[in-house]
Amino acid sequence: MYHTFTITIKIEMLNRLIANILPRMPKKLVWVFSKRYIAGETIEEGMLASKLLNENNIAVTIDLLGEFIETLGQAEENKNQYIEIINRFTDENIKGNFSLKPTMFGLLIDTEVCYSYIREIVALAASKNSFVRIDMEDSQCVDREIDIFRRLRLEFPKNVGLVIQAYMRRTLSDLEALSELNSKESPLNFRLCKGIYIEPENIAFQDFKEVQQNFLDALDYMLKNKMYVGIATHDKHLVNESYKLLEKYKVPKDKYEFQMLFGVTPDLRNSIVKRGHLMRVYVPYGKDWFGYSTRRLKENPKMATEIIKALFVRG
Ligand SMILES: Cc1cc2nc3c(=O)[nH]c(=O)nc-3n(C[C@H](O)[C@H](O)[C@H](O)COP(=O)(O)OP(=O)(O)OC[C@H]3O[C@@H](n4cnc5c(N)ncnc54)[C@H](O)[C@@H]3O)c2cc1C
Repeated sequence: MYHTFTITIKIEMLNRLIANILPRMPKKLVWVFSKRYIAGETIEEGMLASKLLNENNIAVTIDLLGEFIETLGQAEENKNQYIEIINRFTDENIKGNFSLKPTMFGLLIDTEVCYSYIREIVALAASKNSFVRIDMEDSQCVDREIDIFRRLRLEFPKNVGLVIQAYMRRTLSDLEALSELNSKESPLNFRLCKGIYIEPENIAFQDFKEVQQNFLDALDYMLKNKMYVGIATHDKHLVNESYKLLEKYKVPKDKYEFQMLFGVTPDLRNSIVKRGHLMRVYVPYGKDWFGYSTRRLKENPKMATEIIKALFVRG
């Protein structure tokens, strides 16, 4: 018992150590481990991965990697890339929609420019009967991202959705405030996840169980108020509790979905698909994979072992 405890502590320390040195490791080395979480660097690779998932009865949401840009020129370039993505993916009839991070369009440089670029993307998606999800980024972005969502929702009620992070203490009051936009014809469409950024204790729950509880409270609120939810988690406990809530509110199958990240917990993913629930996988691709990967690596509890395996076993 004592021996197992000591080994667990040592692995945790090793994980933390690797997490801290990762951003300083050579990119090629990080790629060895990262590639399982990323469809590739090109749009063709993103489309191929999506088609394979579609063949396995799984929908996708496409994400072009990149965030926290420095110039508005980069923002425009990103907008143009999203326009191409939407055109190519819809032309190929890929079963999926699109996710984007507002900081890629200049959220922290010029909010109005950012809004106008995202509006252009959502308008194109709407013209193709598709959908754009606004990812939620760190706490400095939350108010601005909610505001952009509110404005777009008024114009495109069926084509835009937002992410809600369960670790934020404000989550339930955000949901209450947003509920005024909910309607029977166009239910609000949220992705509910735990949240991935490092946030201070005064604004975000730090305790694992508290985050789980807030996730379930938020899910309960959304289902009770007939909002559409993308239940985005790989946490078995949350998946099982979600089944119970779906049953409790007798939610029809077309009023929710499960979502997972590309390359994470495929067994759990398949078990959800087998039960007949809609599953959507978040498919990130692009040249800017480094920031995304290091965040994924940091949150993976088995990271140390996986990296060592990736480096030494798979060469
Ligand atoms: C579709 C989708 C979209 C997301 N969008 C956002 C967003 O917009 N904003 C945001 O802040 N966060 C986003 N996230 C990330 C999310 O907030 C969590 O950080 C992440 O999903 C891990 O939480 P979890 O619920 O899976 O629970 P955890 O307790 O972290 O994980 C449960 C189990 O899943 C497995 N697992 C989890 N992550 C990994 C991994 N990287 N590698 C291998 N195994 C792993 C492990 O076995 C772990 O024990 C998104 C997640 C998903 C699934």
